[in-house]
Amino acid sequence: MTDCSRCGGAMVDMVVPEDGGGAYRGAQIRAQRCTQCAVAWVDTTRIAPRALVGTMLERKREPAAKPCPRCGGRVAKLTLSWDTYWVQIEECAPCRIVAVDPGEYPELRMLLGAAHDVLVSGA
Ligand SMILES: [Zn+2]
Ligand SMILES: [Zn+2]
Repeated sequence: MTDCSRCGGAMVDMVVPEDGGGAYRGAQIRAQRCTQCAVAWVDTTRIAPRALVGTMLERKREPAAKPCPRCGGRVAKLTLSWDTYWVQIEECAPCRIVAVDPGEYPELRMLLGAAHDVLVSGA
């Protein structure tokens, strides 16, 4: 990845602090954060059993305005909810990366944690 597909800002590598337990314990969550608009593209291969598009967490899907910064492909803008958690993200399903706005990562983690069994079973 080079530049942010949203604003053209420079992307820097970061590791998302992963202090949760259970399935995430010890996971190294890789991400790239834009130094300009602060959006983080998080690699979900370690935090979600599968791509989030098409799961029962999905409440609303529309095409995102900007392409995937990694493959240049189309990105889905998703509203996900489970239990009392909900979050809006953008996902490139083939790359398994999601764009998360600053401060939304904890909500995403809570949601994925709450829905983990459902995601694993593929319901
Ligand atoms: Zn940006
Ligand atoms: Zn992609």
